[in-house]
Amino acid sequence: MKSPRFFFVRCQAGLLRLPQASGSAQDDRRCCPIERSRNKTTAPSDIFSIFTIAIQKEKGMPLKYKRVLLKLSGEALMGDKKSGIDESVLELYARQIKEIQDMGAQVGIVIGGGNIFRGLSGLKSGFDRVTGDYMGMLATVINGLALQTFISQAGGKARMLTAIEMLPVAERYTKTLTESLFEEGYVLIFTFGTGNPFFTTDTAAALRGVEIEASVILKGTRVDGVYTADPEKDPGAVRYSDITFEEAYNKGLKIMDLTAFTMCRENNLPILVFDMNKAGNLRKVLAGEAVGTLIHN
Ligand code: UDP
Repeated sequence: MKSPRFFFVRCQAGLLRLPQASGSAQDDRRCCPIERSRNKTTAPSDIFSIFTIAIQKEKGMPLKYKRVLLKLSGEALMGDKKSGIDESVLELYARQIKEIQDMGAQVGIVIGGGNIFRGLSGLKSGFDRVTGDYMGMLATVINGLALQTFISQAGGKARMLTAIEMLPVAERYTKTLTESLFEEGYVLIFTFGTGNPFFTTDTAAALRGVEIEASVILKGTRVDGVYTADPEKDPGAVRYSDITFEEAYNKGLKIMDLTAFTMCRENNLPILVFDMNKAGNLRKVLAGEAVGTLIHN
């Protein structure tokens, strides 16, 4: 008996099983339907449409949040290193960002610089605070360029913008430019923090989040949410699925620095703290699955 023949195509939804056209050449099985139609070999239209519908279905998936501001700390980019960038972490982040771009989300990213330099640490080495802070903000540009490169390598479209004039490195952030780049389907990486010393990139995330009218700040961390106590020290610590700004403030929970926290609270911009180091988590957040801790009014 002739067994049915199938081949598999990997897409965001997982492996897609497609029927193999009868009489197709062995080589044909190895390339996707689009390539086959380009090669003008027998491209069975039924296979092509199954493939197209699967992609459309995926793109048209209802999203919990349409426009998000993702905050990534510089420190997280170090991975297990003592400083600098661990490329495997960048790769993991870039793949996850590309995944939600494919789902149709509009993604703004604020990236930190703590893996390279922090103004406050610079004080100990003899730098004045303002110089140290500018060095810290420049560090975010290095991370931004690295992330932009890795998102492109993952097949995504990304553009870095800076808070101050820095041509030819990147264009300066404006709300109008942001809107038109989102329309063109770019992921936007906002660097150089707020452009001012004495602030942090958490505050830059709150500021850009409010400015671009994001539905939520996604604070990607190495932990899977906010706990009643430090889970590494207290085995009885419990993770909140959600908590109000007021409760978090009264309990003294450290979610973002106070300037950033207050800005989100006053502008009714919720924060979701989640584990960005777990592959697929960002997609789950956008799909509305219960991931991390939501801080809201
Ligand atoms: N920084 C600043 N103004 C800003 C944002 C950042 O002066 O608006 C400086 C500050 O010195 C900070 C450094 O840039 O320590 C790196 O940012 P951050 O510490 O927020 O990075 P992360 O902790 O997210 O890696």
